[in-house]
Amino acid sequence: MEYHRLIVCHECDLLFRKPSSVEKRRASCSRCGASLTALRGARLPLDWFCAVTLAAFITFCIAQSFPVIELCANGMTSEATLFGAVRALWSGNMRVVAAMVFCSSILFPLIELLCLLYLLVPICTGKRPPWFNVMPRVVQLVRPWGMVEVLMLGVLVTIVKMVSMAEVIPGPGLFALGALTVMLGVVALFDPSGLWAVRDEIRSS
Ligand SMILES: [Zn+2]
Repeated sequence: MEYHRLIVCHECDLLFRKPSSVEKRRASCSRCGASLTALRGARLPLDWFCAVTLAAFITFCIAQSFPVIELCANGMTSEATLFGAVRALWSGNMRVVAAMVFCSSILFPLIELLCLLYLLVPICTGKRPPWFNVMPRVVQLVRPWGMVEVLMLGVLVTIVKMVSMAEVIPGPGLFALGALTVMLGVVALFDPSGLWAVRDEIRSS
């Protein structure tokens, strides 16, 4: 049996023979109605997703490099970056919290963005990157654990609470973090499993 001519519905496991092309139409499972996005010809706006992912990566670097907030009280000024806050938690004997904040707001979003760029940049130029099979799985593994939006909410609540105690000046990192939250929401719309069909098209062309 030629397995590459078959496709299985990811929701109900019903097996289909792949049609040659579904250009400008939407293919869905006849039993459960799930969208079969991994079919050839079901084109993904890859250039667009690649551009958004690249923009999100640059915004991520800005959010990590610049202070998120600046506090002024009694003539003293102090500023904090995200990584500096993690380091302060670590040295303040809150190592579990520090590790959770580091993983959910720095490490996992960074891994997701790097893996997507590793896949999308060569595919947009018509090449198949090495270790193609591993990267979509890594993205799907780390994606649920990236929680930049939760961190953003926490930072905003902290700012509101701190206003009565000190002068709080939002830093460039805060604006970058806000933009990153929106961009990661857009990046999360991209289902990397659709790349398998694109990989097949590159292989056969
Ligand atoms: Zn189905």
